[in-house]
Amino acid sequence: MPDPTDTAKNKAQPAKTGKVYLVGAGPGDPALITVRGRDLLSRAEVVVYDYLASPKLLRYVPREAELIYAGKRGGGKHTHTQEEINQILVDHALAGRNVVRLKGGDPFIFGRGGEELEVLAEHNIPFEVVPGVTSATAAATYAGVPITHRGYTSSVAFITGHEDPTKSETSIDWDRIATGIGTLVFYMGIKNLPSIATNLIRAGRDAKTPVVVVRWASTPIQRSVVGTLADIADRVKAEGITPPALVVVGEVVKLRDKINWFEKRPLFGKRVMVTRTREQASELVNLLEEQGADVLERATIAIQPPESWEPLDLALAKLHQYDWVLFTSLNAVQNFFPRLHEQGKDARAFGRAHIGVVGSATAEALRGYGLLADLVPAKFTSEGLAASLVGAGVAGKSILIPRAAKAREVLTETLEQAGAMVETVPVYQNVRPTGYEDQLRQELTEERVDVVTFTSSSTVTNFLHMLNEKDPRKLVELLKNTAIAAIGPITGQTVRKNGLAVDIMPATHTIPDLVEAIVRHFAS
Ligand code: SAH
Repeated sequence: MPDPTDTAKNKAQPAKTGKVYLVGAGPGDPALITVRGRDLLSRAEVVVYDYLASPKLLRYVPREAELIYAGKRGGGKHTHTQEEINQILVDHALAGRNVVRLKGGDPFIFGRGGEELEVLAEHNIPFEVVPGVTSATAAATYAGVPITHRGYTSSVAFITGHEDPTKSETSIDWDRIATGIGTLVFYMGIKNLPSIATNLIRAGRDAKTPVVVVRWASTPIQRSVVGTLADIADRVKAEGITPPALVVVGEVVKLRDKINWFEKRPLFGKRVMVTRTREQASELVNLLEEQGADVLERATIAIQPPESWEPLDLALAKLHQYDWVLFTSLNAVQNFFPRLHEQGKDARAFGRAHIGVVGSATAEALRGYGLLADLVPAKFTSEGLAASLVGAGVAGKSILIPRAAKAREVLTETLEQAGAMVETVPVYQNVRPTGYEDQLRQELTEERVDVVTFTSSSTVTNFLHMLNEKDPRKLVELLKNTAIAAIGPITGQTVRKNGLAVDIMPATHTIPDLVEAIVRHFAS
């Protein structure tokens, strides 16, 4: 990769100078960036981002853009000094690039945004600033504290807790802020919390004033600790709270008892592992996050094209001649239709053929391709589909099943026994992703995983294969603090066959029902 510094120095000055956009990333939840900020990210050529800016925001950045991690202030090997960061911005802008400088929270609130812009101004580099939701308001909001309230306070101050308050030359006027302002919010105040609290009390603030400390506010791993000026430092220490965290001091903290909405969501503080393919995980992930869960996406299956398209192509050539075409998974639908289109055909190719699907999600996907399923079984399993078809009468009928290269045979066998002529063709194959087996094991043992979700038998087998634990007792031990959620009986059976218990299973086998069952599990 060419060094942009060299480019800037060696080449003649480009026709246009680039522009630097100093963008506030918001406090942690990636959805809290501004619309303007997201638009700029989607047009960026270079993004220089901080430790506090959610890495999830990088998904808005074009693939070709260069990403530069500016790191965590004050530490770490892979970080840049402020001077280096300034230079990076200058060099890329002079090389004519569109640069987004992405900073946690709001760039002008304890973010050194001003310093970076001064340097750009000295080089006559054009810039714009996009404000962000600062972590102080986010921490208060997500801890259930209105930062101001008519009944409690009419002023608020944002203060750096970074300065050692015992220093004689402190620039913070403790006497005035302690009694002159209602709500006090300290950024970077965890290390100095004992002396911050002492100073405020000494300067006249009531020792009983309520305080909340909020770590990683607005994210699924948010933690908060409540106390008073007198005991908050001890409580924070006992709870092992480390930065980044904010300290909110004032009577408004009392309101938390009534309006602590974020931390009261049903799955708040629960870590849920999703083992579905990346393509299919999003519905499950969104629904779990909606309930407050901290979701770990660890795909145990990757979908690839079949070894050969020939069997499908032959079937497509006579698609209208089948009596039934059956889709037993979302993947079957999602891999069948692109190939149909590639062959220059569309939904009309089905002719008079009836279409059966395994469940509501498959039916929904089919609808996306302009087709309504003729048959959705009452029970969303292959057995359920087989029973419905046999009930409708399949003797002498020709049936096509586009499906995974390796799949269960129950549907085929039941239909053949009932006198149907069944043809199965592969439209995709499941492969096991490799490379993060160790990470998976580590997460289960060293970090806490409250639930692991399985949405098919192959997710179970692949997951266990990746854990590679031959001793069944050790496997049980490895998963002893993790509840196992299976979408339906077949998946559940595969779990049990491997010597594990199923803790959660919904009565109807859909993703929303699975999430509801997980919520119920933790409510009881
Ligand atoms: N410009 C940022 C602040 C940067 S200073 C903003 O506007 O929010 C860094 C400090 O911000 C941290 O030490 C911590 O006190 C606070 N902070 C940033 N993000 C936070 C978060 N998600 N939760 C709690 N504190 C956070």
